[in-house]
Amino acid sequence: MGMEDYPRTVLELEERFGSEDACWNYLLKLRWPEGFLCSRCGSTDNWKATRGRLICRKCRHQGSVTAGTIFQDTRKPLKMWFRAVWHVTSQENGASAVSLQQVLGLGSYVTAWTWLHKLRRAMVRPSRDRLCGVVEVDETYWCTKEEGVVGRRTEDKAVVIVAAEEKGNGIGRIRLKHIPDLTKASLHSFIAEAVEPGSIVRTDGLNAYRGLSDYVHERSVQRLQLEGEHLLPHVHRVVSLLKRWLLGTHQGAIDQAHLDYYLDEFTFRFNRRTSASRGKLFYRLLQQAMQIEPVPYKNIIGGKYNHNT
Ligand SMILES: [Zn+2]
Repeated sequence: MGMEDYPRTVLELEERFGSEDACWNYLLKLRWPEGFLCSRCGSTDNWKATRGRLICRKCRHQGSVTAGTIFQDTRKPLKMWFRAVWHVTSQENGASAVSLQQVLGLGSYVTAWTWLHKLRRAMVRPSRDRLCGVVEVDETYWCTKEEGVVGRRTEDKAVVIVAAEEKGNGIGRIRLKHIPDLTKASLHSFIAEAVEPGSIVRTDGLNAYRGLSDYVHERSVQRLQLEGEHLLPHVHRVVSLLKRWLLGTHQGAIDQAHLDYYLDEFTFRFNRRTSASRGKLFYRLLQQAMQIEPVPYKNIIGGKYNHNT
């Protein structure tokens, strides 16, 4: 397999990944591009057993390609997962659990929903680079639905913070996060994890942004503006695309506890929006899925999700 080898069309996907073996071999190369190294004795001499296991010829230690990834312990065939990844990455506006359930013929809506959330976790690369250069940072609000004590749905406003790189006349990469409040601690820790020190950070006049000592801070105080003009145009553009996407794909029906997952999916899509090929998104998502920790179902349900970045 070459550096970036992926199916270009759904037909290629079907032809290439019709067997479990083909799927396992693809994952093996994504996980260990340089070949498997025994974690016990360091030997590179091994043989392939079933279900993506490799056995060291020297010490008989066993490695599993899916151990520690979102595919660990799955009882469904990998070719179903490959189709799920294709479905998610080939829908321009993202996939809903209902559409995934239909495409895969899954009996349960909950399974489809759980798969989507597992895949969303893979959309955030654990070791991704921070934004740099000129970065606009601003906050916005999203009304989420919360189950009330008597089962009635109440609305709550979630704070979402957005960072957008300036790139020429357009937008480079973005980072989004749901934060608890607009305190100095929340804003500064988001900037620290999203933006490379030494970068120029542009914000509005909010006092809580003051004291960004590791950055060149450009604070603009809102003055009289012409209609349609914004102090932070890049962030403003990202916010309007985000809101359109949340409303269009998910009808806005998002629990506060799960908002971060949707922000991750939007970020994944946005940062790869210039990718010419859907197949490349498929490749990236599978590649990233091989680099992360498995998520037990109860953690997804509880919305407990620790961002590394
Ligand atoms: Zn060994």
